[in-house]
Amino acid sequence: MEQKFCQSCGMPMEDAEMYAVEADGSKNMDYCKYCYENGTFTADMSMQEMIDACVPYMVEHNPEMTEAKAREMMGQYLPALKRWRS
Ligand SMILES: [Zn+2]
Repeated sequence: MEQKFCQSCGMPMEDAEMYAVEADGSKNMDYCKYCYENGTFTADMSMQEMIDACVPYMVEHNPEMTEAKAREMMGQYLPALKRWRS
């Protein structure tokens, strides 16, 4: 199975449990359940706010990564995702 990444926060979605759910109960394969729920985004945030929210998580899970490096990576990665591309 192809590795999917949330098109809002960039988190890898390893199994169906991670996928967001639409208002009608169907899965939304573009977003994770933390970003999108019942047909709407869970938080109305800017891309910068998303970076701020994700950096501590990335640093925690990648001990060799500095905060500056995580911020740089997110700054390059997030603009390519569906939610932020418009
Ligand atoms: Zn997400």
